Amino acid sequence: MCVFCGSSSGTQPEYAEAAVELGKALVQRGYGLVYGGGSVGLMGRVSKAVFESGGNVVGVIPTALEPKEISGESVGEVVVVKDMHERKALMATKSEAFVAMPGGFGTLEELFEVITWHQLGYHDKLVGLLNTGGYFDQLLSFIDHSVEQGFISPNARKILRSAATPAELLDAMEQDIVNGASAGINLDGS
Ligand code: AMP
Repeated sequence: MCVFCGSSSGTQPEYAEAAVELGKALVQRGYGLVYGGGSVGLMGRVSKAVFESGGNVVGVIPTALEPKEISGESVGEVVVVKDMHERKALMATKSEAFVAMPGGFGTLEELFEVITWHQLGYHDKLVGLLNTGGYFDQLLSFIDHSVEQGFISPNARKILRSAATPAELLDAMEQDIVNGASAGINLDGS
């Protein structure tokens, strides 16, 4: 599972708690973690939770962010790559599905890139949003507004599923796999 999340921890303790809960839930369900490397913010929380629960952790970090003063100490395997483009491409190819949890511009960029790649047919991997404490409520409302205004097709909207807790989100994603939901997106959005 590739997890995109904040390099900060946010103001509310529930974000870090959710990161730890997600990490533990991934291991319980037999998934490894692919993430951006380092120990800062929620990235550190989720990676430590997976590692300490006995799960496999792969951090993919660009040379420019590699110094420990910037990204902190990583757990598990660390792959150092040339730049952000190489990092995102490798994170995507090394994982079978994506989860985004609360974060800032970096997280949003990574999330929307994998949704866009799905929409264009570059992959058919599931994309889930962990909406801890309603953090993404306004973003989800905006996406629905964009559907209403005719810029996102109703079918493309289905690429992103969201839930309030790690267990609910992983349950929904696993159910989507059983239903074969991710294979139904066509390039023309029909
Ligand atoms: P943000 O949501 O803006 O905090 O950015 C989080 C994402 O950006 C992470 O998933 C990383 O890919 C990347 N990122 C931002 N800052 C760092 C950092 N100090 N060390 C490693 N990755 C970072």
